[in-house]
Amino acid sequence: MCVACRQMKEKKELIKVTKPKEGPIQIDETGKLPGRGAYVCKNPDCVKKAKKARGFERAFKCALPEDLYEKLDEVAKDG
Ligand SMILES: [Zn+2]
Repeated sequence: MCVACRQMKEKKELIKVTKPKEGPIQIDETGKLPGRGAYVCKNPDCVKKAKKARGFERAFKCALPEDLYEKLDEVAKDG
């Protein structure tokens, strides 16, 4: 489910962000990192909404690396 629009989507339409047991929260491009995952649509509008609503902060209940939303934006634009 996307943290911005809250719609269920196919995995290929989503970008996964993972909070590993150790280390920083990161974009999980392979979808194989262990840890808790949250998703946003591969869509710059949803990334913007997620940033505004602090969707990932809510999902993980902690702060995100400063540049994470920028990186998500780039991934979303790449399609
Ligand atoms: Zn969405």
